Amino acid sequence: MGAFAYVAPSNLEEALAVLKEHASAGTRAQLLAGGTDLLVQLRSADKTPRTIVDIKKIAETNRIDIGSEEVYIGSAIPSAVLNENTELAALFPGLLEAADLIGSTQIQGRATVGGNLCNASPAGDSIPAMIAAGGVCVIVGAKGTRELPVEDFLTGVGKNALEPGELLLGLKFKRPGPRTADAYLRFIPRTEMDIAVAGCGVSVTLDQNGTCTAARVAIGAVAPTALLVPAAAEALLGSKLDDDALTAAGAACTAASSPISDKRGTVEYRRKVVAVLCRRAAAIARDRAKG
Ligand SMILES: Cc1cc2nc3c(=O)[nH]c(=O)nc-3n(C[C@H](O)[C@H](O)[C@H](O)COP(=O)(O)OP(=O)(O)OC[C@H]3O[C@@H](n4cnc5c(N)ncnc54)[C@H](O)[C@@H]3O)c2cc1C
Repeated sequence: MGAFAYVAPSNLEEALAVLKEHASAGTRAQLLAGGTDLLVQLRSADKTPRTIVDIKKIAETNRIDIGSEEVYIGSAIPSAVLNENTELAALFPGLLEAADLIGSTQIQGRATVGGNLCNASPAGDSIPAMIAAGGVCVIVGAKGTRELPVEDFLTGVGKNALEPGELLLGLKFKRPGPRTADAYLRFIPRTEMDIAVAGCGVSVTLDQNGTCTAARVAIGAVAPTALLVPAAAEALLGSKLDDDALTAAGAACTAASSPISDKRGTVEYRRKVVAVLCRRAAAIARDRAKG
């Protein structure tokens, strides 16, 4: 493991001061949430020295607020805590099933969806689910707070939109209205503890007749970043989410994808699988929205 210093600020001001000091000096500071990506990378891929800034003692990163209009999930909340929250499970079943797929029970005791997002792996499981659920990043830095939709936060493989001195404070979601539900599915070659070959998150809203009035579809592991696929949502809108609409949405996901071939799957395979996952996730979201 490379050399590093460690600080655990007890509040946001202290954390921002540390980040500002490093940004001004041109030295490296890196945020630590659960550490399930960071510590692995420190041991192998990237051993260069840095100061690790642990965000777990900061109040704003440790809060879950479930309001009448909005839901906020702090960036230090581990997946295990999310998964045990029955109110969140009722509001965002897809997001929670994505969080529940990250690693094992042990990993979920530490891993956060904020860390999953900031790590910006194309295959990060919670990312398409957060995009489908309309997630917005709450980012804080020396200049104040700014917000960015999750789909705009990702700028490349392992890259995100944070500027030096900034951190992800948490994620905001509009509280889903009636007959709205989400779902997330991924495909992996093993039954668990593997990286997605493809993933798809879908959120739909139905009217009283079961017609789709709003939809968001996002895909993962089939492009350099997770992607929002507006054409897939278009294919669902105005339909009763019947087979034809689901097939058209799946085809739009295939068209939006630009995967690589690797030991887990070829380009052709991934492009087919993402369509299947879209059809199935949309059907699950539809059935959930019908209640
Ligand atoms: C055995 C194992 C199995 C895994 N299985 C899966 C899986 O099935 N699916 C999956 O998607 N991932 C998986 N992962 C990867 C990892 O667990 C997830 O990406 C996890 O969600 C990362 O969260 P974390 O809190 O541990 O992030 P950390 O490791 O703490 O941080 C990850 C990156 O994000 C940055 N960061 C973290 N928080 C912030 C913040 N608030 N602001 C700015 N930057 C921040 C860190 O500096 C670092 O670069 C697995 C990892 C292991 C070790």
